[in-house]
Amino acid sequence: MTKKKSDAGLDAFCIFCGKKQDEVSILVQGENASICEACILHAFQIVEDEVGQIKTKKKTKKQFKLPEHFSPRHIKDYLDLYIIGQDEAKKTLSVAVYNHYKRLAEGIDNEVEIEKSNVLFIGPTGTGKTLMAKTLAKLLDVPFAIVDATSFTEAGYVGEDVEGMLSRLLQSCDYNVEQAERGIIYIDEIDKISRRSENPSITRDVSGEGVQQAMLKIIEGADVNVPPAGGRKHPEQQFLKLNTQNILFICGGAFDSLDKIIAKRMNTNVIGYSSNNEKKETDYDKLIRYVNHQDLKKFGLIPELLGRLPVLAYLEILSKDSLMEILTIPKNAIIKQYQKLFSMDGIQLDFKKDAIEMIAELAFENKLGARGLRSICETVLKEAMFETPRDEGKKKLSIDRKYVLDHIDPQLFRKSA
Ligand code: ADP
Repeated sequence: MTKKKSDAGLDAFCIFCGKKQDEVSILVQGENASICEACILHAFQIVEDEVGQIKTKKKTKKQFKLPEHFSPRHIKDYLDLYIIGQDEAKKTLSVAVYNHYKRLAEGIDNEVEIEKSNVLFIGPTGTGKTLMAKTLAKLLDVPFAIVDATSFTEAGYVGEDVEGMLSRLLQSCDYNVEQAERGIIYIDEIDKISRRSENPSITRDVSGEGVQQAMLKIIEGADVNVPPAGGRKHPEQQFLKLNTQNILFICGGAFDSLDKIIAKRMNTNVIGYSSNNEKKETDYDKLIRYVNHQDLKKFGLIPELLGRLPVLAYLEILSKDSLMEILTIPKNAIIKQYQKLFSMDGIQLDFKKDAIEMIAELAFENKLGARGLRSICETVLKEAMFETPRDEGKKKLSIDRKYVLDHIDPQLFRKSA
Protein backbone atom coordinates (compact mmCIF):
# COMPACT_ATOMS: atom_id res chain seq x y z
CA MET A 1 0.00 0.00 0.00
CA THR A 2 1.43 3.38 -0.95
CA LYS A 3 0.63 6.48 0.99
CA LYS A 4 1.23 9.49 -1.08
CA LYS A 5 -0.66 11.15 -3.82
CA SER A 6 2.48 11.45 -5.84
CA ASP A 7 3.05 7.70 -5.63
CA ALA A 8 -0.27 6.92 -7.26
CA GLY A 9 -0.59 6.80 -11.01
CA LEU A 10 -1.97 9.85 -12.80
CA ASP A 11 -5.30 8.27 -13.61
CA ALA A 12 -5.80 6.96 -10.05
CA PHE A 13 -9.08 7.91 -8.32
CA CYS A 14 -10.84 7.23 -5.02
CA ILE A 15 -12.94 4.12 -5.44
CA PHE A 16 -15.50 5.45 -2.90
CA CYS A 17 -16.20 9.04 -3.96
CA GLY A 18 -14.72 8.94 -7.46
CA LYS A 19 -12.46 12.01 -6.98
CA LYS A 20 -9.32 12.06 -9.10
CA GLN A 21 -5.80 12.29 -7.74
CA ASP A 22 -5.50 16.02 -8.39
CA GLU A 23 -8.76 16.76 -6.56
CA VAL A 24 -7.60 15.35 -3.19
CA SER A 25 -4.59 15.89 -0.98
CA ILE A 26 -3.92 12.28 -0.03
CA LEU A 27 -4.79 9.22 -2.04
CA VAL A 28 -3.88 5.92 -0.43
CA GLN A 29 -3.29 3.31 -3.06
CA GLY A 30 -3.85 -0.42 -2.61
CA GLU A 31 -3.10 -3.13 -5.11
CA ASN A 32 -6.17 -2.58 -7.28
CA ALA A 33 -7.87 0.44 -5.76
CA SER A 34 -7.31 3.80 -4.06
CA ILE A 35 -9.11 5.74 -1.36
CA CYS A 36 -8.90 9.45 -0.52
CA GLU A 37 -8.33 10.92 2.95
CA ALA A 38 -11.91 12.24 3.23
CA CYS A 39 -13.36 8.77 2.66
CA ILE A 40 -10.87 7.25 5.10
CA LEU A 41 -12.00 9.70 7.78
CA HIS A 42 -15.63 8.98 7.01
CA ALA A 43 -15.08 5.23 7.22
CA PHE A 44 -13.13 5.68 10.45
CA GLN A 45 -16.10 7.55 11.95
CA ILE A 46 -18.45 4.70 11.01
CA VAL A 47 -16.15 2.09 12.54
CA GLU A 48 -15.74 4.15 15.69
CA ASP A 49 -19.51 4.61 16.09
CA GLU A 50 -20.19 0.91 15.59
CA VAL A 51 -17.45 -0.24 17.95
CA GLY A 52 -18.65 2.32 20.48
CA GLN A 53 -22.19 0.97 20.28
CA ILE A 54 -21.06 -2.61 20.62
CA LYS A 55 -18.98 -1.64 23.65
CA THR A 56 -21.86 0.17 25.37
CA LYS A 57 -24.23 -2.68 24.60
CA LYS A 58 -21.84 -5.16 26.17
CA LYS A 59 -21.29 -2.87 29.10
CA THR A 60 -25.00 -2.42 29.86
CA LYS A 61 -25.58 -6.15 29.67
CA LYS A 62 -22.78 -6.79 32.15
CA GLN A 63 -23.83 -3.84 34.30
CA PHE A 64 -27.32 -5.18 34.97
CA LYS A 65 -27.49 -6.53 38.48
CA LEU A 66 -30.39 -8.01 40.34
CA PRO A 67 -31.46 -5.56 43.03
CA GLU A 68 -30.57 -6.60 46.56
CA HIS A 69 -33.20 -8.69 48.40
CA PHE A 70 -34.94 -9.20 45.07
CA SER A 71 -36.77 -12.50 45.14
CA PRO A 72 -40.08 -14.01 44.01
CA ARG A 73 -41.38 -13.47 47.53
CA HIS A 74 -40.39 -9.82 47.42
CA ILE A 75 -42.27 -9.41 44.13
CA LYS A 76 -45.35 -11.16 45.49
CA ASP A 77 -45.32 -9.11 48.69
CA TYR A 78 -45.42 -5.99 46.55
CA LEU A 79 -48.25 -7.33 44.36
CA ASP A 80 -50.16 -8.17 47.57
CA LEU A 81 -50.30 -4.47 48.42
CA TYR A 82 -52.38 -3.72 45.36
CA ILE A 83 -54.03 -6.96 44.26
CA ILE A 84 -56.51 -8.95 46.29
CA GLY A 85 -56.60 -12.73 46.00
CA GLN A 86 -55.23 -14.36 42.84
CA ASP A 87 -52.48 -16.03 44.85
CA GLU A 88 -51.58 -18.62 42.23
CA ALA A 89 -51.31 -16.03 39.48
CA LYS A 90 -49.20 -13.77 41.69
CA LYS A 91 -46.83 -16.61 42.54
CA THR A 92 -46.51 -17.69 38.91
CA LEU A 93 -45.86 -14.14 37.79
CA SER A 94 -43.32 -13.50 40.55
CA VAL A 95 -41.29 -16.54 39.60
CA ALA A 96 -41.47 -15.72 35.88
CA VAL A 97 -40.30 -12.17 36.47
CA TYR A 98 -37.53 -13.25 38.81
CA ASN A 99 -36.26 -15.67 36.18
CA HIS A 100 -36.57 -13.00 33.52
CA TYR A 101 -34.33 -10.69 35.53
CA LYS A 102 -31.86 -13.47 36.26
CA ARG A 103 -31.70 -13.89 32.51
CA LEU A 104 -30.93 -10.20 32.07
CA ALA A 105 -28.25 -10.33 34.74
CA GLU A 106 -26.69 -13.35 33.10
CA GLY A 107 -26.48 -11.83 29.62
CA ILE A 108 -26.57 -13.98 26.54
CA ASP A 109 -22.89 -14.77 26.10
CA ASN A 110 -22.96 -17.86 28.24
CA GLU A 111 -23.18 -21.47 27.19
CA VAL A 112 -26.58 -22.08 28.72
CA GLU A 113 -28.90 -19.46 27.42
CA ILE A 114 -31.92 -18.94 29.64
CA GLU A 115 -35.06 -18.58 27.57
CA LYS A 116 -37.60 -15.84 27.98
CA SER A 117 -40.44 -16.35 30.43
CA ASN A 118 -43.24 -14.50 28.66
CA VAL A 119 -46.53 -14.94 30.46
CA LEU A 120 -50.10 -15.69 29.39
CA PHE A 121 -52.85 -14.64 31.81
CA ILE A 122 -56.18 -16.39 31.54
CA GLY A 123 -59.08 -14.97 33.49
CA PRO A 124 -62.47 -13.33 33.21
CA THR A 125 -62.63 -9.61 32.67
CA GLY A 126 -62.12 -7.43 35.73
CA THR A 127 -60.17 -9.98 37.76
CA GLY A 128 -56.91 -8.02 37.84
CA LYS A 129 -54.88 -9.10 34.78
CA THR A 130 -54.01 -5.60 33.64
CA LEU A 131 -53.62 -4.40 37.21
CA MET A 132 -51.10 -7.16 37.85
CA ALA A 133 -48.95 -6.21 34.84
CA LYS A 134 -49.21 -2.51 35.67
CA THR A 135 -48.23 -3.04 39.31
CA LEU A 136 -45.29 -5.14 38.25
CA ALA A 137 -43.99 -2.41 35.95
CA LYS A 138 -44.27 0.04 38.83
CA LEU A 139 -42.23 -2.21 41.10
CA LEU A 140 -39.52 -2.78 38.53
CA ASP A 141 -39.53 0.85 37.43
CA VAL A 142 -39.40 -0.08 33.76
CA PRO A 143 -41.31 1.32 30.78
CA PHE A 144 -44.73 -0.23 30.40
CA ALA A 145 -47.29 -0.26 27.61
CA ILE A 146 -50.76 -1.75 27.37
CA VAL A 147 -51.91 -2.66 23.88
CA ASP A 148 -55.02 -4.25 22.51
CA ALA A 149 -54.41 -7.24 20.27
CA THR A 150 -57.58 -6.52 18.31
CA SER A 151 -56.23 -3.18 17.07
CA PHE A 152 -53.59 -4.92 14.95
CA THR A 153 -53.81 -6.46 11.49
CA GLU A 154 -51.39 -8.36 9.34
CA ALA A 155 -48.92 -6.09 7.45
CA GLY A 156 -50.38 -4.76 4.23
CA TYR A 157 -53.98 -4.63 5.42
CA VAL A 158 -56.03 -1.77 6.86
CA GLY A 159 -55.19 -1.32 10.53
CA GLU A 160 -52.11 -0.99 12.67
CA ASP A 161 -48.94 -3.05 12.25
CA VAL A 162 -47.92 -5.14 15.25
CA GLU A 163 -44.73 -3.05 15.54
CA GLY A 164 -47.10 -0.38 16.90
CA MET A 165 -46.86 -2.06 20.30
CA LEU A 166 -43.15 -1.21 20.39
CA SER A 167 -43.91 2.39 19.39
CA ARG A 168 -46.22 2.56 22.38
CA LEU A 169 -43.44 1.28 24.67
CA LEU A 170 -40.96 3.80 23.24
CA GLN A 171 -43.46 6.61 23.73
CA SER A 172 -43.86 5.63 27.38
CA CYS A 173 -40.16 6.32 28.03
CA ASP A 174 -39.58 9.30 25.77
CA TYR A 175 -38.01 7.20 23.05
CA ASN A 176 -35.17 5.97 25.25
CA VAL A 177 -34.29 2.82 23.30
CA GLU A 178 -32.12 1.35 26.01
CA GLN A 179 -34.85 1.65 28.64
CA ALA A 180 -37.53 0.38 26.27
CA GLU A 181 -35.45 -2.72 25.58
CA ARG A 182 -36.03 -3.74 29.21
CA GLY A 183 -39.71 -2.82 29.35
CA ILE A 184 -42.92 -4.77 29.78
CA ILE A 185 -45.70 -4.93 27.21
CA TYR A 186 -49.15 -6.12 28.22
CA ILE A 187 -51.12 -7.42 25.23
CA ASP A 188 -54.78 -7.47 26.17
CA GLU A 189 -57.59 -9.39 24.45
CA ILE A 190 -55.21 -11.99 23.06
CA ASP A 191 -58.13 -14.44 22.95
CA LYS A 192 -59.91 -12.20 20.45
CA ILE A 193 -57.30 -12.86 17.77
CA SER A 194 -57.70 -16.60 17.85
CA ARG A 195 -57.67 -18.55 14.63
CA ARG A 196 -61.03 -18.82 12.93
CA SER A 197 -60.67 -22.55 12.58
CA GLU A 198 -64.32 -23.45 12.30
CA ASN A 199 -64.81 -20.82 9.66
CA PRO A 200 -64.32 -22.36 6.23
CA SER A 201 -63.94 -18.91 4.66
CA ILE A 202 -61.31 -18.64 1.94
CA THR A 203 -60.42 -15.07 2.88
CA ARG A 204 -57.22 -14.50 4.82
CA ASP A 205 -57.58 -14.23 8.56
CA VAL A 206 -55.70 -10.90 8.68
CA SER A 207 -56.80 -9.84 12.14
CA GLY A 208 -56.65 -13.26 13.75
CA GLU A 209 -54.06 -15.83 12.80
CA GLY A 210 -52.26 -13.24 10.63
CA VAL A 211 -51.63 -11.08 13.70
CA GLN A 212 -50.51 -14.04 15.76
CA GLN A 213 -47.97 -14.90 13.05
CA ALA A 214 -46.77 -11.30 12.89
CA MET A 215 -46.23 -11.21 16.66
CA LEU A 216 -43.98 -14.27 16.76
CA LYS A 217 -40.72 -12.57 15.86
CA ILE A 218 -41.30 -9.64 18.20
CA ILE A 219 -42.24 -11.79 21.18
CA GLU A 220 -39.38 -14.20 20.69
CA GLY A 221 -36.76 -11.44 20.46
CA ALA A 222 -35.42 -9.73 17.35
CA ASP A 223 -34.14 -6.44 16.02
CA VAL A 224 -37.25 -4.63 14.88
CA ASN A 225 -37.56 -1.40 12.91
CA VAL A 226 -40.12 0.61 14.79
CA PRO A 227 -42.03 3.55 13.33
CA PRO A 228 -41.76 6.04 16.23
CA ALA A 229 -45.30 7.30 15.83
CA GLY A 230 -46.85 3.85 15.37
CA GLY A 231 -49.48 3.18 12.72
CA ARG A 232 -48.72 1.63 9.37
CA LYS A 233 -45.11 1.31 8.15
CA HIS A 234 -44.23 3.02 4.90
CA PRO A 235 -40.98 3.23 2.93
CA GLU A 236 -40.12 6.93 3.45
CA GLN A 237 -40.44 6.64 7.20
CA GLN A 238 -37.59 6.97 9.72
CA PHE A 239 -37.31 3.94 11.97
CA LEU A 240 -35.85 3.32 15.39
CA LYS A 241 -34.17 -0.03 15.82
CA LEU A 242 -35.32 -1.84 18.93
CA ASN A 243 -34.15 -5.21 20.17
CA THR A 244 -36.99 -7.13 21.82
CA GLN A 245 -34.82 -9.87 23.30
CA ASN A 246 -35.20 -8.58 26.86
CA ILE A 247 -38.69 -7.16 26.71
CA LEU A 248 -41.12 -9.12 28.86
CA PHE A 249 -44.42 -9.82 27.13
CA ILE A 250 -47.49 -10.52 29.20
CA CYS A 251 -50.57 -11.50 27.25
CA GLY A 252 -54.03 -11.65 28.76
CA GLY A 253 -57.48 -12.73 27.75
CA ALA A 254 -60.81 -13.85 29.14
CA PHE A 255 -60.94 -16.99 26.94
CA ASP A 256 -64.69 -17.36 27.32
CA SER A 257 -65.81 -20.98 27.42
CA LEU A 258 -62.26 -22.28 27.74
CA ASP A 259 -63.53 -24.13 30.80
CA LYS A 260 -65.73 -26.22 28.50
CA ILE A 261 -62.69 -27.23 26.44
CA ILE A 262 -60.85 -28.19 29.64
CA ALA A 263 -63.87 -30.10 30.93
CA LYS A 264 -64.08 -32.04 27.71
CA ARG A 265 -60.40 -32.94 27.75
CA MET A 266 -60.46 -33.88 31.43
CA ASN A 267 -63.40 -36.17 31.02
CA THR A 268 -61.88 -38.04 28.12
CA ASN A 269 -58.41 -38.09 29.65
CA VAL A 270 -59.27 -38.82 33.24
CA ILE A 271 -62.26 -41.07 32.88
CA GLY A 272 -61.20 -42.39 29.53
CA TYR A 273 -64.47 -42.93 27.78
CA SER A 274 -66.85 -41.21 25.50
CA SER A 275 -68.45 -37.82 25.73
CA ASN A 276 -71.97 -39.11 26.40
CA ASN A 277 -70.71 -39.71 29.90
CA GLU A 278 -69.48 -36.15 30.22
CA LYS A 279 -69.64 -34.77 33.70
CA LYS A 280 -71.66 -31.62 34.03
CA GLU A 281 -68.66 -29.89 35.58
CA THR A 282 -68.79 -26.29 34.56
CA ASP A 283 -67.41 -24.64 37.63
CA TYR A 284 -64.90 -22.26 36.10
CA ASP A 285 -62.57 -21.97 39.10
CA LYS A 286 -62.34 -25.73 39.56
CA LEU A 287 -61.44 -26.30 35.94
CA ILE A 288 -59.25 -23.36 35.04
CA ARG A 289 -56.42 -24.54 37.28
CA TYR A 290 -55.93 -27.48 34.92
CA VAL A 291 -55.52 -25.35 31.80
CA ASN A 292 -52.70 -26.35 29.49
CA HIS A 293 -51.29 -25.34 26.11
CA GLN A 294 -53.33 -27.99 24.36
CA ASP A 295 -56.59 -26.36 25.48
CA LEU A 296 -55.40 -22.98 24.29
CA LYS A 297 -54.47 -24.43 20.93
CA LYS A 298 -57.96 -25.80 20.67
CA PHE A 299 -59.28 -22.37 21.54
CA GLY A 300 -57.46 -20.94 18.53
CA LEU A 301 -54.00 -19.77 19.51
CA ILE A 302 -51.37 -21.06 17.13
CA PRO A 303 -48.76 -23.45 18.60
CA GLU A 304 -45.87 -21.16 17.58
CA LEU A 305 -47.31 -18.33 19.67
CA LEU A 306 -48.07 -20.62 22.58
CA GLY A 307 -44.48 -21.86 22.45
CA ARG A 308 -43.33 -18.30 23.03
CA LEU A 309 -45.64 -17.86 26.02
CA PRO A 310 -44.38 -20.67 28.23
CA VAL A 311 -45.75 -19.42 31.55
CA LEU A 312 -49.49 -19.85 32.05
CA ALA A 313 -51.25 -18.12 34.92
CA TYR A 314 -54.96 -18.29 35.63
CA LEU A 315 -57.07 -15.80 37.54
CA GLU A 316 -60.10 -16.80 39.53
CA ILE A 317 -63.52 -15.21 39.53
CA LEU A 318 -63.50 -12.79 42.46
CA SER A 319 -65.70 -13.92 45.35
CA LYS A 320 -67.96 -11.58 47.29
CA ASP A 321 -65.40 -11.49 50.11
CA SER A 322 -62.60 -10.57 47.70
CA LEU A 323 -64.75 -7.82 46.24
CA MET A 324 -65.30 -6.44 49.76
CA GLU A 325 -61.54 -6.42 50.31
CA ILE A 326 -60.95 -4.72 46.95
CA LEU A 327 -63.23 -1.93 48.10
CA THR A 328 -61.27 -1.25 51.26
CA ILE A 329 -57.81 -2.84 51.48
CA PRO A 330 -55.49 -2.03 48.51
CA LYS A 331 -53.30 1.05 48.77
CA ASN A 332 -55.55 2.93 46.37
CA ALA A 333 -58.80 1.13 47.24
CA ILE A 334 -61.95 2.61 45.72
CA ILE A 335 -63.44 3.65 49.06
CA LYS A 336 -60.18 5.34 50.09
CA GLN A 337 -60.35 7.31 46.85
CA TYR A 338 -63.91 8.51 47.54
CA GLN A 339 -62.99 9.36 51.12
CA LYS A 340 -60.21 11.53 49.80
CA LEU A 341 -62.53 13.25 47.31
CA PHE A 342 -65.06 14.05 50.04
CA SER A 343 -62.39 15.17 52.51
CA MET A 344 -61.32 17.79 49.97
CA ASP A 345 -64.76 19.32 50.54
CA GLY A 346 -64.28 19.00 54.30
CA ILE A 347 -66.59 16.00 54.66
CA GLN A 348 -65.79 12.78 56.44
CA LEU A 349 -67.15 9.86 54.40
CA ASP A 350 -67.93 6.75 56.35
CA PHE A 351 -68.93 3.35 54.95
CA LYS A 352 -70.67 0.91 57.29
CA LYS A 353 -69.76 -2.76 56.92
CA ASP A 354 -73.26 -3.65 55.68
CA ALA A 355 -72.92 -1.04 52.91
CA ILE A 356 -69.63 -2.52 51.74
CA GLU A 357 -71.18 -5.96 51.83
CA MET A 358 -74.15 -4.75 49.78
CA ILE A 359 -71.98 -3.13 47.10
CA ALA A 360 -69.85 -6.29 46.79
CA GLU A 361 -72.98 -8.42 46.59
CA LEU A 362 -74.46 -6.29 43.82
CA ALA A 363 -71.23 -6.51 41.79
CA PHE A 364 -71.02 -10.26 42.34
CA GLU A 365 -74.66 -11.06 41.57
CA ASN A 366 -74.66 -8.93 38.45
CA LYS A 367 -71.39 -10.63 37.35
CA LEU A 368 -69.67 -7.25 37.08
CA GLY A 369 -66.47 -8.25 38.89
CA ALA A 370 -64.18 -5.59 40.33
CA ARG A 371 -64.88 -3.28 37.42
CA GLY A 372 -68.51 -3.02 38.58
CA LEU A 373 -67.56 -1.82 42.07
CA ARG A 374 -66.58 1.57 40.79
CA SER A 375 -69.76 2.10 38.76
CA ILE A 376 -71.93 1.02 41.71
CA CYS A 377 -70.11 3.41 44.06
CA GLU A 378 -70.41 6.17 41.51
CA THR A 379 -74.18 5.66 41.28
CA VAL A 380 -74.60 5.45 45.05
CA LEU A 381 -72.59 8.60 45.72
CA LYS A 382 -73.66 10.66 42.72
CA GLU A 383 -76.29 12.65 44.56
CA ALA A 384 -74.03 13.27 47.56
CA MET A 385 -71.14 14.38 45.34
CA PHE A 386 -73.46 16.77 43.55
CA GLU A 387 -74.96 18.31 46.69
CA THR A 388 -72.24 18.29 49.35
CA PRO A 389 -69.81 20.91 48.00
CA ARG A 390 -72.39 23.66 48.68
CA ASP A 391 -73.93 22.05 51.76
CA GLU A 392 -72.14 24.30 54.27
CA GLY A 393 -73.23 22.68 57.53
CA LYS A 394 -72.47 19.08 56.53
CA LYS A 395 -69.33 17.54 58.01
CA LYS A 396 -70.03 13.83 57.87
CA LEU A 397 -71.73 11.39 55.51
CA SER A 398 -72.44 7.87 56.59
CA ILE A 399 -73.32 5.20 54.05
CA ASP A 400 -75.15 2.06 55.15
CA ARG A 401 -76.94 -0.77 53.36
CA LYS A 402 -80.21 1.17 53.19
CA TYR A 403 -78.47 4.20 51.69
CA VAL A 404 -76.94 1.96 49.01
CA LEU A 405 -80.27 0.35 48.13
CA ASP A 406 -82.06 3.71 48.11
CA HIS A 407 -79.57 5.17 45.65
CA ILE A 408 -79.18 2.47 43.03
CA ASP A 409 -81.42 1.97 40.06
CA PRO A 410 -82.93 -1.52 40.44
CA GLN A 411 -83.13 -1.70 36.65
CA LEU A 412 -79.35 -1.36 36.40
CA PHE A 413 -78.27 -3.48 39.34
CA ARG A 414 -80.50 -6.38 40.19
CA LYS A 415 -80.58 -7.96 43.62
CA SER A 416 -81.65 -11.53 44.01
CA ALA A 417 -82.96 -11.47 47.61
P1 ADP B 1 -58.76 -7.28 33.65
O1 ADP B 1 -58.62 -8.62 34.29
O2 ADP B 1 -59.96 -7.20 32.77
O3 ADP B 1 -57.49 -6.82 32.99
P2 ADP B 1 -58.27 -5.07 35.40
O4 ADP B 1 -56.97 -5.48 35.94
O5 ADP B 1 -58.25 -3.99 34.36
O6 ADP B 1 -59.08 -6.31 34.85
O7 ADP B 1 -59.23 -4.62 36.60
C1 ADP B 1 -60.10 -3.53 36.53
C2 ADP B 1 -60.09 -2.79 37.87
O8 ADP B 1 -60.67 -3.61 38.86
C3 ADP B 1 -58.69 -2.49 38.37
O9 ADP B 1 -58.24 -1.23 38.01
C4 ADP B 1 -58.85 -2.57 39.87
O10 ADP B 1 -59.30 -1.35 40.38
C5 ADP B 1 -59.92 -3.59 40.07
N1 ADP B 1 -59.42 -4.95 40.33
C6 ADP B 1 -59.60 -6.02 39.55
N2 ADP B 1 -59.11 -7.13 40.11
C7 ADP B 1 -58.56 -6.74 41.27
C8 ADP B 1 -57.87 -7.44 42.32
N3 ADP B 1 -57.66 -8.77 42.25
N4 ADP B 1 -57.44 -6.72 43.37
C9 ADP B 1 -57.67 -5.39 43.45
N5 ADP B 1 -58.31 -4.68 42.51
C10 ADP B 1 -58.77 -5.34 41.43
